[in-house]
Amino acid sequence: MHTKVVKIDSADIDNKSMTEAAELIRAGELVAFPTETVYGLGADALNPEASRRIYAAKGRPSDNPLIVHIAKFQDLERIAEEVPRQAKLLAEAFWPGPLTVIVRKNDRVPRETTGGMETVAVRMPNHPVALGLIEASGCLIAAPSANTSGRPSPTEAAHVAADMDGRIPMILDGGAVGIGIESTIIDLTEEIPMILRPGYITAEMLSGVLGGEVRLDPGIIAADSKTKPKAPGMKYRHYAPRAELTLVEGAQEDVVAEINRRAAAARLAGQKAGVIATEETKGKYRADYVVSIGARDDEDAIARHLYRILREFDDINADVIYSESFAASGVGQAIMNRLLKAAGHRVLTV
Ligand code: AMP
Ligand code: MG
Repeated sequence: MHTKVVKIDSADIDNKSMTEAAELIRAGELVAFPTETVYGLGADALNPEASRRIYAAKGRPSDNPLIVHIAKFQDLERIAEEVPRQAKLLAEAFWPGPLTVIVRKNDRVPRETTGGMETVAVRMPNHPVALGLIEASGCLIAAPSANTSGRPSPTEAAHVAADMDGRIPMILDGGAVGIGIESTIIDLTEEIPMILRPGYITAEMLSGVLGGEVRLDPGIIAADSKTKPKAPGMKYRHYAPRAELTLVEGAQEDVVAEINRRAAAARLAGQKAGVIATEETKGKYRADYVVSIGARDDEDAIARHLYRILREFDDINADVIYSESFAASGVGQAIMNRLLKAAGHRVLTV
């Protein structure tokens, strides 16, 4: 299959391209498109055959449910068994935006879309191209991240093309995304709302709006395999570059010294070593490939750069990667969650 990559200007959306993309969605085909978080691989969420195509193109395990993207709040009412009061509050505060809510589904939503679950994950993205595609197609759009299963999520159209070329008919190229990590997922079917995946909307922001306790799924922090996360997708190794990634934590100069020692040892062993540094430390490393992920206190920049950097290490055929570690508060919690998963929880404390 030929994959057509079409540039689309978010500020001035070309109708012809949008109509073509919308027709593909209506016909049960796949279209990759930008959202504010990462690029999504979209298909008609209420068409089981279209959902199956998503799993096939990504090589995604069939028990890993998809997030349904909507453009108006009433569409949540269309597919939920009932809309909890908390969903209304959260939608008012954060939609359109990087927050996914999990509610009980009704019969309109096929099991193929929810990986066999009786609940459905729903989000209203804050991106004119994503919203435009949902509206132009008249469909609700199931869209996981547009990467091959297990690889880092795409934050640019070129990342989508690297994984999906020849597998899907169309990619809408709206440039680099703004946030760079996937939405926060909150499960509203639990008695106490539970975060199944940390993201840009933090626990503090959620409990502020809900006016009460919000729990964090214990399964997403645990390094052991006994505590299963409730979001099926969080149990798989994910976001991972091909090279072995190790996080190094400790006082800054100790971290730099340890990483330099290991990078030197890797080179002696004939391996190519990469380092994820920060603006503050990038000049202190001696390794084959050193990249700064941003200033240490600029969490937004770190989130925005993370997946592109992981992919760059693949491009240069790195064998081992060492990364600095970050404070796990605020957006840092989401950053560390993705880094730890990408590293398969390999952490070195110095
Ligand atoms: P992705 O769209 O690729 O970022 O992945 C979506 C994430 O949402 C995966 O981790 C899924 O397991 C999770 N998810 C989607 N629907 C549900 C649901 N109904 N219950 C729990 N987790 C879900
Ligand atoms: Mg994903």
